Amino acid sequence: MRKLGLLLLTTLISMTAVMAQSLELTDKLPQDPNVIVGTLDNGMKYYIRENATPEKRAEFTLVVHAGSVLEDEDQQGLAHFNEHMAFNVTKNFPKHELIEYLESLGMKFGPEVNAYTSFDETVYGIKVPTDNEEYVDKGLLVLYDWASQVTLETEEIDAERGIIHEEWRMGQGAMDRMQREFLEVLFHNSQYAKRLPIGTMEVVDNCDPEALRRFYRDWYRPDLMAVVVVGDFDAAEMEQKIINQFSQIPKRENPRERFFADIHDHDETLVCVTTDPESPISMVEIFYKHPLKATETVADYREDIISMLMS
Ligand SMILES: [Zn+2]
Repeated sequence: MRKLGLLLLTTLISMTAVMAQSLELTDKLPQDPNVIVGTLDNGMKYYIRENATPEKRAEFTLVVHAGSVLEDEDQQGLAHFNEHMAFNVTKNFPKHELIEYLESLGMKFGPEVNAYTSFDETVYGIKVPTDNEEYVDKGLLVLYDWASQVTLETEEIDAERGIIHEEWRMGQGAMDRMQREFLEVLFHNSQYAKRLPIGTMEVVDNCDPEALRRFYRDWYRPDLMAVVVVGDFDAAEMEQKIINQFSQIPKRENPRERFFADIHDHDETLVCVTTDPESPISMVEIFYKHPLKATETVADYREDIISMLMS
């Protein structure tokens, strides 16, 4: 143990020494030169990195900077509902062809094709074989469709309601009941407490399809999205492909304001004790709230290291 501690300390000191030679605390953190970062005219960002292992494989991710906290009163649960709809019918993959196509390349739903919806983001990802250019192009087309071509037909929406309701039912239990109680305290009257991603089943079962389309229209737009691709390909070629594919999405005129829900500060320590007859475990959790702060300079990074060491 002692040896390991000493080794860690030596490593930290030598890292600090290297940094001290070349960087001032006020310097901006340098961008990794192996990552190509760009912004299209429509506002969409992209990040590209060549990575040769595993061979002939790549991961394509679409990040939407919008989640359940942006839902209106009649949309509770519809950020997540939209995520489901992306896998059903899109312009270039009608009649559930998207999943069939991805599975035909050997991708399985779960490990290789997946998505999640959180309070502030919705993220979609696929793993694509890169040994055939057609797979790469079609993989980008899948992301393009998710970003701008989900059709949201009433019939398909109605067919999905039961599936989401079942997902909600599966999530019920002691942990869910206790979590709802403590999140209410943790989020302290903020919008977060009222917008758990699973939403309400009244909305999921009965919402007007237009409410779902409104969420997609308002928040799935290029200035709130990024494409991230990492894998075994030529980065310059990939950049050109991304520019060609995603520049087709028009820039949004007069977009709705992307607001950020606050979690208000408080002087007192908030405490929540919750129990449930079905709970299999006892658990204590402590949260420290901090102002949201971006790591931009060397000094910020130093702060991050200090607080990690303290924790
Ligand atoms: Zn789901």
